[in-house]
Parts: sequence; structure tokens; C-alpha cells
Amino acid sequence: MCGIIGVFEPKKTNEFIAQELTMLGMFAEQHRGQESCGMAVSEGSVFRHKKEMGLVKQVFTPEVLSALKGRIAIGHVRYPTCGSATYYNSQPHVVETLAGPSFALASNGDIVNYHQIRKELETEGVYFASENDGELLIKFIVYHVDKKGFTITEAVKHLMTKVKGAYSTVLATREELYMFRDPHAIRPMVWGKTPGGSYVAASESCALNILGIRDFNEVGAGEIIIVSDEGISRTNTTVKKLRHCIFEHIYFSRPDSYHFGENVYQVRENIGAILADIDKVKADIVLPVPDSANFMALGYSRRKKIPFEMGLIRNHYVGRTFIKPEQTIRDEGVQHKYNTLPNFFEGKKIILVDDSIVRGTTIRKIIKLIQKAGVKEIHLRIGSPQVKYSCYYGIDTPTKEELIANKKDINEIKDHVDADSIIHLPTETLRNAVSNPDNYCYACFDGNYPVKK
Ligand code: SF4
Repeated sequence: MCGIIGVFEPKKTNEFIAQELTMLGMFAEQHRGQESCGMAVSEGSVFRHKKEMGLVKQVFTPEVLSALKGRIAIGHVRYPTCGSATYYNSQPHVVETLAGPSFALASNGDIVNYHQIRKELETEGVYFASENDGELLIKFIVYHVDKKGFTITEAVKHLMTKVKGAYSTVLATREELYMFRDPHAIRPMVWGKTPGGSYVAASESCALNILGIRDFNEVGAGEIIIVSDEGISRTNTTVKKLRHCIFEHIYFSRPDSYHFGENVYQVRENIGAILADIDKVKADIVLPVPDSANFMALGYSRRKKIPFEMGLIRNHYVGRTFIKPEQTIRDEGVQHKYNTLPNFFEGKKIILVDDSIVRGTTIRKIIKLIQKAGVKEIHLRIGSPQVKYSCYYGIDTPTKEELIANKKDINEIKDHVDADSIIHLPTETLRNAVSNPDNYCYACFDGNYPVKK
């Protein structure tokens, strides 16, 4: 999971603030990736870029930004999936050609036929400096423009017929900004226009809102949008069956984002209400594992008319546990991340709502923490089905062996996490939480992968 931003500031404004807008958008998307971040900026004749391991505010200080002035900028926050957490695998990737155009590209998603396409390009003499799929996309485009005489749009159209997987992408040249999205529209991608007239593309609408954009659209499945000083042009390629990632609603996206035709917070509230409908247990209070389960617990509480309480406090400076790439770092993160309210849990029977169980690492420790605080009973309610399959479209669940639902049955999981009872949302009922259930990917629950290698 990563976050992307693309900004095009029209020539007439002449303010050279694309880098500022991009940094703000990246900061709003920091939850999508915390390992590295980067930006590439075009000032017409010059292409400048900077990427580093670390968080947006640490890397893009006012001094750094003042050296990156330009009208067209793209940015990326990275959580490593394809290629490890290194500088070379971080994005954007930049390719400068002496005679022809220069390119910078940032993408969110994973390419499932990465090795096959890379091998084909390497056979043609294309050099790769990283193991990152963003580099594959830019090298594919540059090869077809440079060596085959394609226009950029033709190269992207061709890419959509050959490259399989998820890719919500921004591509900057010295004069234009391209936005495009894979034909299944797996990862979110939206775009709009700031009150000052700059066009902005982003992974999530929360990044557009912070730039003053209230009206925005999704980049369509298989759509290419080109922004230049002449305005906007839109091209559609083959649209396949829509397969939006349902996990974006469950966990990844910010609740103040809107995509796939839904408010993220509303889907989470729906999930909570549906969980309440299938639950017979009586309890004193409902509380979420903050933050992604907050709205699920709220939906549950409203439906069952059981008080919603915040008994667990999250330290926001630790980051997201799920998206730390190594188990040791994840373990440490959990211990420092949550604490219980004093004198709150004693003798209480609680419904504890969480969004998902992937490895079981976090929830086990949280339950232990609440038990230490004197709770009487913990009934664990999970706002998603059991995660049994790995994701190949941009989420780090690399092997089935790491998923607790593949190692233990539901009673063993209950005992492992030490809950008094546990209920997952079944896939059939999860579908009721969204308005267009057939447009989603549920592969990590049912193994029905929409894009095969
Ligand atoms: S497999 Fe799961 S996480 Fe991956 S795209 Fe599909 S629903 Fe999302």
C-alpha cells in the first residue's frame, strides 16, 4: 500500500507552488506508507527530485521544498510490497533522456506479471536499478516511446494490455501530467481542481480536501487523463470488470475519504451495524481498537443501543502496526501503541471491535492489556471475514503461512487471543455494507483472485 499525488499548476498562475501542494497531499496520505517518501518536480526545462527513507515532514523541510520549485510535481509515500524498504525501491522513479522527453512516475499497487515483463524488457537491453514495480512501469513507457516511436498515450494504452495487476499512477513530463489507473480500478484514485486552478490527482480524497478541493472525480478504470496548458484530455482503454479492494474500506483508507462511490466512514458504520445484527451477546459497552475500527464500533453501538466508549488509547506517533514490514518491528509497535484508561475496565463485559485479524499479533496483546486492567469478559467482533489468502495487488500479506486463519480454526484463534467469544463478519454479509458489492475484490477472504499472472 502506498499513496500518490500529482499536481499540475497552469502556466498562467506562475506561482511555482506545485511542490508545496504535493507535500501537503503526501502528508495527508502518510497513513498509506511510512517507510520512504519522494517527490519529482518539473520547472519546464529542469526536472528536480528528492526521495529518502522517512516521513514526509522529516524529509520535505522548508529548505528542501524551496530547492524543488516547479509547476508540475508528483509525490509518493511508500509502504514496501514489491521490493524491500530501500532508497532504490522508493518512488518516484525518474528517467531523463538527453534528446527526448524526461519522465517521473509514482504508482500505488502491485504488478502480478512483474518478472515476465521485466525479463522481456531486459532482453531488449533495458536496465533496471531497483526491484520496484514503479520502475517497471516507467521503463515500459520510456522503452516504447524512445525505441518504438509510440506517443506517451499509446505507450500507456499498450501497457494496459500487457501489464497485469493494480496500478493507480501519476506520470510527469516537463510539460504534462498523466494520470492513469488499471482496468479493474483496484486501488483508489481521484482527481480535482484547486480553487487556484491547479489540477491534482491523489490516492485518496482526503488529500484533495486539504488543498481546498470539494468537487472531485475518480480516475476511471483503464482511463488516461492528460493535463497540459491546453487543458484536459481523457482517453478510455478497455475496462475490465471492476474489482475495487474492499480492504480499502475496512482498514487502509482514511475515514474522511470517498472512493468507489462510497464514504469510507459510512461503509465502516454499516459493517458495525451488520455485525450487531448477527450478534446475540449482551454487554455493558462497545469499544473499538482505534483508529480503523472506530466507525465500526460506532455502527455496532447505534444498532444495538449499547454505549460506545473509548477505553483504549492509541499513541499516534507509533504508526500503523499492520504496515511495519518486519515482525520484530510490528511487535515493538504494538507494545508502545496502546494503553488502557485507568479505572475503566474493572468488572465490565465488553464488545471489542477490530477491523481484521491478519497475523493475530496485535489483537492478542491488546486483549492481554485489557485483561490486566480488570475486564470481566471480552467478546471480540471483527469487521471482516477471516483473512485466508495473500494479496498480490499492493498489500503486504506475502505468505499464507503468516495468516493465523490458515494455521488455526476459529476456536483455536479464540483461545490463542484469549477472547471469551469471537465473531467475524461473513463475506455474504460484508457485501451488504457497500452499494455495489459485485464491483469489489474479496480475494483475501475467498481466494477468488480477479487478476491472474
Ligand atoms: S486481495 Fe484483499 S487486500 Fe488485496 S486487493 Fe483484494 S480485497 Fe484488497
